[in-house]
Amino acid sequence: MPEALLERENTVFVGGQWKNGRGAEMLEVIDPSTGNVLSRVQAGSAEDVEKAARAAAKAFDGWKRKPGAERAKYLLGFARGLESRKTILVRVQMHNNGKSRIEAEIDVDDAIATFDYYATLAEGLDERQDTRVDHAGGMHFGLVRHEPVGPVGMIVPWNFPLVTSAWKIAPALAAGCTATVKTSEMTPLNELVYGDIAAEIGLPAGVLNIVTGGAEVGIALTRAHEFRKISFTGSNMIGAKVMEAVSARCLPISLELGGKSPIVVTADADIDQAVSCIMGGIFFNAGQMCSATSRLIVDKSIEPKLIEALVEASRALRVGSPFEDGVEMGPLTTSAQCHKVLWMIEDAKSDGLDCVIGGGAIDREGHFVKPTIFRDVPQDHTIWRDEIFGPVLATTTVSSDEEAIAVANDTHYGLVGSVVSGDWTRAKAIADRIEAGQIWINTPQVVYPDSAWGGFKQSGIGRELGPWGLSGYLGVKHILSKV
Ligand code: NAD
Repeated sequence: MPEALLERENTVFVGGQWKNGRGAEMLEVIDPSTGNVLSRVQAGSAEDVEKAARAAAKAFDGWKRKPGAERAKYLLGFARGLESRKTILVRVQMHNNGKSRIEAEIDVDDAIATFDYYATLAEGLDERQDTRVDHAGGMHFGLVRHEPVGPVGMIVPWNFPLVTSAWKIAPALAAGCTATVKTSEMTPLNELVYGDIAAEIGLPAGVLNIVTGGAEVGIALTRAHEFRKISFTGSNMIGAKVMEAVSARCLPISLELGGKSPIVVTADADIDQAVSCIMGGIFFNAGQMCSATSRLIVDKSIEPKLIEALVEASRALRVGSPFEDGVEMGPLTTSAQCHKVLWMIEDAKSDGLDCVIGGGAIDREGHFVKPTIFRDVPQDHTIWRDEIFGPVLATTTVSSDEEAIAVANDTHYGLVGSVVSGDWTRAKAIADRIEAGQIWINTPQVVYPDSAWGGFKQSGIGRELGPWGLSGYLGVKHILSKV
């Protein structure tokens, strides 16, 4: 058991100090493989958020004026700090998220790579200052600078806790912003490691603050006047509330929201390759991915063969506790999510939909759902249209690429998409026309720190990762001068 992280006395990191949260609530750290409580941690409070916001505002001027190369050293410190704690962090994610070992390792590696990547961008920021613009007429010239937007409030969900927060903290700190993160009440332990590392590497007080807690703490964060931007990752329902809360102050906002993403398989696709892409897109992290490709759109001519292969692969998928040998898919992280997914499955079954594999809970303790596939799902059904956030795939057939594109785009979401085809040019033509922020061709989902991450339509506002993630924390200033 990773005692050091599970048994936390202090769960709020504010102004460079660890404190016990002042919230009334005790947050339960549940093991989804058993449903047992692993530990309880004290939630933070609205007052903790206010203190964090003041600490972030106080630290901002000093932090933004540090050379980018110096900020880069701290970011590298975070990367190395994560690296040295990898074993324990993997175990916490296996215990509290129910991630398989490989999934938990991927998460920690992703967080490390993100800090390393933004260290490089922070170093480059010094050289990028003051780009000259020679204005028409020769009377004036301009100097364009990119300046950090200010202290940023960040709210994250539970499905990739360490990663989602790394995608926000690393670019914000690289840009010269200070950051205050509210972690998910479902997984309150993961991000505490960033406080430990901040203390260890001597990050100036207030540059990074962490407050645990639920909605009440999130609401306080959206109301704190010191923040000049709010960055949110989570559901559309809460995203809308966050947007409304900050709208009174017209604050910049970034939203990383949900999806109901398509995976298109053309008639000439390699079946094994298609199966690997489909399985990864819906059963990785037990389907609890904003980027789950939960709608399979396959050419009629190969559908029977593909479904047969998919059913076989799903049956062979090893589901169990992450601590059992060879497990590929763990339980759902929260009991509420498990109930929601099971309810949606039951609803689809009672509507007479064709469930070709899975279709319910696994008969054991914990929040286990069978890998589930519904075939020939009507395109107006809830399981075709709504985000399920679990291991449930809905399939349909099409007769042409044109039809596949139309079906893929018939959604109010636009986060990601996948295309599997034997002809790369054909796949690229489809990818070009899918309305989403990230498309994979002939590969299961891979996300690099220099990818762009974010959605079209109702999947969000703004982009994380890559130079776009950095830009989200920078404002453009134009200084105009007489020649
Ligand atoms: P959620 O929206 O329920 O909660 C997200 C965060 O918001 C939590 O920390 C929660 O405590 C906080 N919160 C709740 N009410 C609040 C309020 N009124 N004001 C401020 N904060 C509040 O989401 P979840 O269940 O934790 O995560 C699942 C959702 O996140 C899915 O919809 C998924 O698609 C989405 N997600 C999106 C991305 C992406 O990159 N686009 C990544 C991961 C998850």
